[in-house]
Amino acid sequence: MNIILLGPPGAGKGTQARKLVAERGMVQLSTGDMLREAKSSGTEMGNKVAAIMDAGQLVTDEIVIGLIEEKLEGDHAGGFIFDGFPRTLPQADALGELLAKHGTTLDAVIEMRVDDEALVARITARSTCASCGEVYNDQMKPIPDDGKCANCGGTEFKRRADDNEESLRTRLMEYYKKTSPLIGYYYAKGDLSPINGLGEIDVVAKAISKILDA
Ligand SMILES: [Zn+2]
Repeated sequence: MNIILLGPPGAGKGTQARKLVAERGMVQLSTGDMLREAKSSGTEMGNKVAAIMDAGQLVTDEIVIGLIEEKLEGDHAGGFIFDGFPRTLPQADALGELLAKHGTTLDAVIEMRVDDEALVARITARSTCASCGEVYNDQMKPIPDDGKCANCGGTEFKRRADDNEESLRTRLMEYYKKTSPLIGYYYAKGDLSPINGLGEIDVVAKAISKILDA
């Protein structure tokens, strides 16, 4: 089963993807992770990626598709979760062609719907444990009163450098301009399953499971 998690930055796609990896043995394909992995791999493709990224240039769709193709050729019994890709209509077309070439299809596109203002409130309130990566939120899941991470006991927490309102609004605008047309694209193909992305992590996870099990 292959799915896309679609939604604006900060909607919780990464969190849900990690849950699916843990619970269903799916493989998470996040563009950022794939590029970082390629960069440090030392392969021909990796060196190409490293040169582009070091020059501060954008990695082309062709390269990202190439990296995804490498993954499709590997072991993937549990299926793939595409997280952060496709981001544009041409990328969506390319992904569809690539999957078809490998004899597989997209089973669901889960649109995580969230309200912008709630997103701004959520992302600016977010911090993570510096040692284990546990995510906290000032309102919904505050750092424990003793100042220690509930998961590992760590005492150092960091906020993402881009967790400020202005940069989030810029990324949201980018999402609406380039990525949100995918909602109509997958709706027309009959693949779109919208869910409310604003609930608690487990509630959102249940909504996703319901779609995957349908
Ligand atoms: Zn921790």
